[in-house]
Amino acid sequence: MTANDSTTTGQAAPGESDAVVMRGVSKWYGDFQVLTDIDLNVRRGERVVICGPSGSGKSTLIRCINRLEEHQQGDIIVDGVALTDDLRSVDRVRREVGMVFQQFNLFPHLTVLENCVLAPMRVRGASRRAAEEQALALLARVRIPEQAGKYPGQLSGGQQQRVAIARALCMNPRIMLFDEPTSALDPEMVKEVLDVMVELAGDGMTMLCVTHEMGFARRIADRVIFMDGGQIVEQADPEAFFTAPKHARTQAFLSQVL
Ligand code: ADP
Ligand code: MG
Repeated sequence: MTANDSTTTGQAAPGESDAVVMRGVSKWYGDFQVLTDIDLNVRRGERVVICGPSGSGKSTLIRCINRLEEHQQGDIIVDGVALTDDLRSVDRVRREVGMVFQQFNLFPHLTVLENCVLAPMRVRGASRRAAEEQALALLARVRIPEQAGKYPGQLSGGQQQRVAIARALCMNPRIMLFDEPTSALDPEMVKEVLDVMVELAGDGMTMLCVTHEMGFARRIADRVIFMDGGQIVEQADPEAFFTAPKHARTQAFLSQVL
């Protein structure tokens, strides 16, 4: 699909060349409003870091992008496809969006290699040979080619998270979502995962990353977004965000994490 392809949404909406568009998105869990009127455009190739206090809605926001959560109000358009109740739109979006979770979410009963080839074979119809070839190349890229035959439980947390990243990349996603990918790791393993993410950022991948690793944000983010209470309170390029945060809530948050 090209940036000008307008056939998928049936209309040439403004901003359609963006990787992700959220317009007036609100979401409730029961009576509790978790997201309020979120407007967000992510350009192709853009790296966006999302931070904010616990419970501010960061996970919910990115989980709405691949429909792990449903929004009730507003529009979400991912890679030109409007997310609706139509399961075909959800399928199409999930094919293009890779996600990495805090808790790795690998299949414990499958080897690293089997974890990596499962979706390409089942969802994309790849042959085992092609899927394995790609998986091994990606495991090499995240610097654990020698772990292909092991089970997740035999790996360190940092290695497991790198498998999770390789597994997501095996689907050739156009967009990668990360939800606090280093928060469950022992400190000495954080760097090995961030290094892989920095490399991915350098390759031009569109990335939305929830993280409190502010050094990482400074290094790779095109834009840092601060959320609080289900709203985007402030967003800016890293330099402006870290040196001159405008909002009192952002200042208070940064004084805690920096
Ligand atoms: P964050 O990732 O910023 O910590 P979340 O998006 O996980 O925030 O959660 C935002 C708020 O929504 C929190 O108050 C949380 O308790 C609540 N919440 C999250 N998931 C659910 C759910 N499935 N049902 C009800 N409330 C939820
Ligand atoms: Mg979260």
